[in-house]
Amino acid sequence: MRMLTKCPDCRIGIELSIADADRRKHCPRCGKLFSVPDTESLGKALDRVRAAGCDVYVDQQGNLYG
Ligand SMILES: [Zn+2]
Repeated sequence: MRMLTKCPDCRIGIELSIADADRRKHCPRCGKLFSVPDTESLGKALDRVRAAGCDVYVDQQGNLYG
């Protein structure tokens, strides 16, 4: 499954595996190390995920539907 997050430095959208949640990754554009939100935080990114057409849905309780 995929999810979308955003680099806190350069703001590029970054598509990740759901397995990367709650880990740290390097931005593919600027190389900055950033924290991937855990699944409890992903509800805030729900609209962004929908807009990107990713195949993961997370509700406000952090439940995942893929
Ligand atoms: Zn970046």
